[in-house]
Amino acid sequence: TVVDISPATALRRRAQYPTASALVYEGHEFSAAQLSRTVDEFAAGLAERGLRRGDRIAYLGLNSVTFLQTLFAAAHLGAVFVPVNFRLAADEVRHILTDSGAHTLVVEEGHRELVESVMSDVPARCHVLVDTDPRCPSTEAPVAVWTPLSELLGADRPFTVPVPLHDDDLASLMYTSGTTGRPKGVMLTHGNLWWNAVNVDSMVDTRSDDVNLAVAPLFHIGGLNALTLRTLLRGGTVVLRRAFDPAQCLRDLVDHRVTSLFGVPAMYTALMRVPGFAEADLTALRAAIVAGAPVPERLIVDYAERGVLLQQSWGLTETAPFATCLPAGLTTEKTGSAGSPMPYTEIRLVDPATGTRIDGVEARGEICVRGPNVAAGYWNNPEATAAAFDDAGWFHTGDIAHRDRDGFYYIVDRLKDMIISGGENIYPAEVERVLAACPGVLEAAVIGVPDPKWGETVLAVLTCEPGITPTLDVVRAFVGESLARYKLPTRVMVAEQLPRNASGKLVKSDLRRWVEARQHA
Ligand code: ATP
Repeated sequence: TVVDISPATALRRRAQYPTASALVYEGHEFSAAQLSRTVDEFAAGLAERGLRRGDRIAYLGLNSVTFLQTLFAAAHLGAVFVPVNFRLAADEVRHILTDSGAHTLVVEEGHRELVESVMSDVPARCHVLVDTDPRCPSTEAPVAVWTPLSELLGADRPFTVPVPLHDDDLASLMYTSGTTGRPKGVMLTHGNLWWNAVNVDSMVDTRSDDVNLAVAPLFHIGGLNALTLRTLLRGGTVVLRRAFDPAQCLRDLVDHRVTSLFGVPAMYTALMRVPGFAEADLTALRAAIVAGAPVPERLIVDYAERGVLLQQSWGLTETAPFATCLPAGLTTEKTGSAGSPMPYTEIRLVDPATGTRIDGVEARGEICVRGPNVAAGYWNNPEATAAAFDDAGWFHTGDIAHRDRDGFYYIVDRLKDMIISGGENIYPAEVERVLAACPGVLEAAVIGVPDPKWGETVLAVLTCEPGITPTLDVVRAFVGESLARYKLPTRVMVAEQLPRNASGKLVKSDLRRWVEARQHA
C-alpha cells in the first residue's frame, strides 16, 4: 500500500486554506498556497533539469525559504534532500557532495566560492544559484555553470504530478555534524520525519495554530524536525530567521507571541543574557524544548524562576530527533532529566561491552532506541550501519544514561568521551555540570589527558566572569564537595570561549587541539 506521508503532500493539503500564513521569513509572509505553488514550480523546473526519483539534491546555505522549498520540491519528485552545513571546511563539503552523489546543488550566493572550490570532484549535473538575500538580488552576473533560481521558478512549464511515496522511501540524508569523525549520511525516511511529528504531538503541548520560532540551523535535525516541519504541516505559522541572534530572538518571541521554540542549551543561555529578558512578555510560550547537548540544571532552574518551563529532550539525527522528552509539568520535580521515552518509541539500556540489558534503577548503560522514527542506516556505509543498528531493530546511540525508579532518564555522557582514570570511569558531563556551578565560572569543558600513574586524569577548561581566574585548589575544593576524588581536575585552564559547532555543541577534538597548542606554546 502507498502511505503518502510526504511533507510535500501535507503542505499541499494545508494549501486548501489559501490565506493562512504558513511562513514569516525575515519579515516576509508566505501563505501555504503561495509556498505550495512555488514548490510545484520548483519541482517542475528541477524535473526539466533531469532530477528524478531517488536522486539526491543538496542545499548549501543559511536558513531560508529556499531551504524549505528545496526539501518540499525534492519530496514532490521522490528525490532525496541533502542539507549541508555551510560552516564545514571544503574537504568536508566535498566528502558530503561526493558521498551522497548529489545530482543537483542548490547554493546560496554567499557560499558559491566554497562549492566552486570542490565542484570538479563532484558528480552534480545541475547547479542552482540562490540570491543570499531574496529582497536585494545580486547584481553580479552568475557564472556560466550556475542557473539562477528565478529561471527554475515560473508557471510556464508543465507541472509534474507528485510522486506517491511509501513510509520507507528516503526523504533526506542528514550528515551528522562530525564531532565524532567523518560525517556519516543518516538515511531518514518520510516515515521517520512523520513519526517524529506524531511523537511530539503526544508529548508536547502543540496545537494546530502554533507559532514556532525557527532559529536553530535547519540543516541539523533539531532545527528542522523537532518542531518546525510539524508546525508547517499541521496548520501553524513558522517564523523563520536566517540564523540565531539572541536579541532578535527575544523580540520575535514577544512580537509574534511565539508558542514553541527549539534550542540547544547555548542558545537559551545567550537568550537569558539579553537586556530586557526578565521583563519581556513570554506568556504565549508553551513549548520551549532544550536538547542537543548536556543541559545545565541551573539553566532549567533560572528559566523556571522566570516562568518558562524548559522541557529537556534527548535524541540524535538517527532518531529524527526526539527519543525522550520531559513533560513541562515535571520540569521542577525532575529537573535534569531528559524525560521518558516518546510514546511510539522504545528505549532500553545495555552494557556497551557485553550488549546485555541493564534494568536496575540508577545503573548506567548505553541507550538503545527502537521505533518508527529510527533511521534506516548510514548511506553508503554498511560497516557503520552494522555497528550501530542491530538485527532486532535497536539503534545503539553511544550515549550513556541511567533511569530513576519512575522511569525517567538522565543522560550521563557520550561513551567515547569517557575518561578512564586508575580503572575508574569518569563521565566528563558529570564533572562539567558541577564545574559550571562554581562561583565565577560561566562554562566548563573537561577532557582526559595522559597521566603516567593513572592512565588519564581530568583537565578542565573554563570560561569565567571578567577578572576571575579560579585556581586549581579552589576548583578542586568546590568540585570535591559533590564528586569523588578521582573525578577532580588535576589541571585547570581558562579560555576566552569554548569551541562549539553551528548547533552549539562543544567540539572536543578542537578543544584537545587548543589544549595541545597551549601546552606546546
Ligand atoms: P556526531 O554524531 O557526528 O558526533 P552530533 O553529535 O552533533 O554528531 P547529533 O545527532 O546532532 O550528532 O547530536 C546527537 C547527540 O547530542 C547525542 O548523541 C547526545 O550526545 C547529544 N544530546 C542530545 N540531547 C542531549 C541532552 N538532552 N543531554 C545531553 N546530550 C544530548
